[in-house]
Amino acid sequence: MTKLIILGSSNAIATENHENTHMVLVGEKRTVLVDCVSSPLLRLERAGVDFNQVSDLILTHFHPDHVSGVPLLLMDMWLLGRRAPLKIHGLEHTLERVENLMGFYGWKNWPAFFPVEFSRVAPVERTLILTSEDFRLYTSPVRHLIPTIGLRIESAASGKVIAYSCDTEPCQEVAHLAESADILIHEAAGAGRGHSSAAQAADIAREAEVGRLLLIHYPTGRHSVGDIVGEASAHFQGAVALAEDFMELDMD
Ligand SMILES: [Zn+2]
Repeated sequence: MTKLIILGSSNAIATENHENTHMVLVGEKRTVLVDCVSSPLLRLERAGVDFNQVSDLILTHFHPDHVSGVPLLLMDMWLLGRRAPLKIHGLEHTLERVENLMGFYGWKNWPAFFPVEFSRVAPVERTLILTSEDFRLYTSPVRHLIPTIGLRIESAASGKVIAYSCDTEPCQEVAHLAESADILIHEAAGAGRGHSSAAQAADIAREAEVGRLLLIHYPTGRHSVGDIVGEASAHFQGAVALAEDFMELDMD
C-alpha cells in the first residue's frame, strides 16, 4: 500500500477548508511528510496517519507557507516521547535556515531530544534522494523566488508515477520531472514571477505527456478566482481537477 494524501491545497493564504499546501506519502516502510505547516499533527491525525510513523520530512523551500510547522512538529514529537530518528531533506539554503530557526528555540537544550538527521539535496535534476521497498523519490530544482525543489515519486510495486511541481514558474525542469507521469500535481497560484497560472500548468502537463493534472496551491475560499479547471482544460486534453485537502491518491 502506497498512497499520497493531500493535507493542504491552498496557496499562502489558507482558508477554512484549505490549509497551506503540504502532503504525506505513506508506504509500508516509510512515511514521508512533504512540507510542514500550521499544527501538523492535527492534519496527520485527521488523515489517519500516526505521526510517529513519519520517517522523513522533505522541505521544498524556506517560505513560511511551507515550513512554518517545523518547530511545532519537532516539539510535539519530542513531547510525545519520540525516540526514532527523523530525516529532514532539503536544499542547503533551506536546511541552513531550519537549523538557525531551531537554534532560536534552543533545541539543542531540549532534554532527550530524538535524533534529527539533515540530508542535503543537490540542486541537480532528477536527484534520487530516497529509496524504500515502496517507492523511489527524486527531486529537481524548479524556478521560484528562492531555491526550491519539485518531486517525482515512483511506486516500486505498480510503477505509477506522481510528480509535484512545488512553487514555480513554468519551467523545463518540471516538464522533465513529470515526464509520462500518471499524475502531475502542479501549482496554480497565478501567473507572475515565481508562480504559474492554471493554463501554464496545463501547458507543462501537455508537454510532459502526463495522464492527469491536479491543480494545487491555488487561491481558495473567498479568494478564489474563476474556473481554473476550465482554464487548464483548454490547454490539456487529459483529466484536470483541483487538489483538495484530504484527497488520497492511490499508488498501488
Ligand atoms: Zn513559496
